[in-house]
Amino acid sequence: MTKKVIIANWKMNPQSLTEAKKIVTAITTKVSHFKKVSVIIAPPVIYLESLAKLQNTTLAGQNLFWEESGAYTGEHSGTMLAKSGATYVIVGHSERRAMGETNEMVNKKVKAALKAGLKPILCIGESVRDEKGDYHTFIKEQIMQSLAGLKKVNLKNVIIAYEPVWAIGKNAKREATPAESLEMSIFIKKVLSDMFGAVATKTVALIYGGSVNTKNAEAFLSDGGVDGVLVGRESLTPLKFIQIVYSAEHLS
Ligand code: PEP
Repeated sequence: MTKKVIIANWKMNPQSLTEAKKIVTAITTKVSHFKKVSVIIAPPVIYLESLAKLQNTTLAGQNLFWEESGAYTGEHSGTMLAKSGATYVIVGHSERRAMGETNEMVNKKVKAALKAGLKPILCIGESVRDEKGDYHTFIKEQIMQSLAGLKKVNLKNVIIAYEPVWAIGKNAKREATPAESLEMSIFIKKVLSDMFGAVATKTVALIYGGSVNTKNAEAFLSDGGVDGVLVGRESLTPLKFIQIVYSAEHLS
């Protein structure tokens, strides 16, 4: 049985470590005994080391730099994240791509994460959906360029988060549907299979992100063709996030 993966991306929230600890504790107290779900929390990097001391907490960084050390003001390496208690790291989130991150940079970050022993959570997703379906070419390029040079054996340590940009955040155009998630999951697996072969593709966890909430999580998990979900806004409210994790644990 493969566990469903539920990731909380806190972005630049909450405003204090005390609050961060309260949210983590509220979540882990309720879900740490669940058998069918892995919960990963991605807090701001400054809280990582303290949160790693709390029991039953699996953490992710939200970003990393590809160099190991040196004159890179404001950056942090994969090794620093790992030593601070992270097991995973989000790479290529659309909010970072909007700040100028290219597929080439994302590729270097994916490789640096793996080298540091971290599992990258690679975010991909189109900004707009055109009627002709050109977004498929865009997604294919994102995957091919972001994962260029990886070996088949690396794939079991990679999570791919399909996050259509138009469905993310409070300014989302609309929610995506589980059917759209399913269609993209088939497409993404085809691209991966052409790159790495069918056997290696089976080892990649593929998740959906974009306005996942207590009302739609179960539908994405059961009909979206994915192994989990990445949750932004609703992950900061423990009761809502716990309900999403609960729906993954109790899928029929
Ligand atoms: C995200 O930022 O990755 C995300 C999925 O956010 P939200 O759930 O708030 O749309």
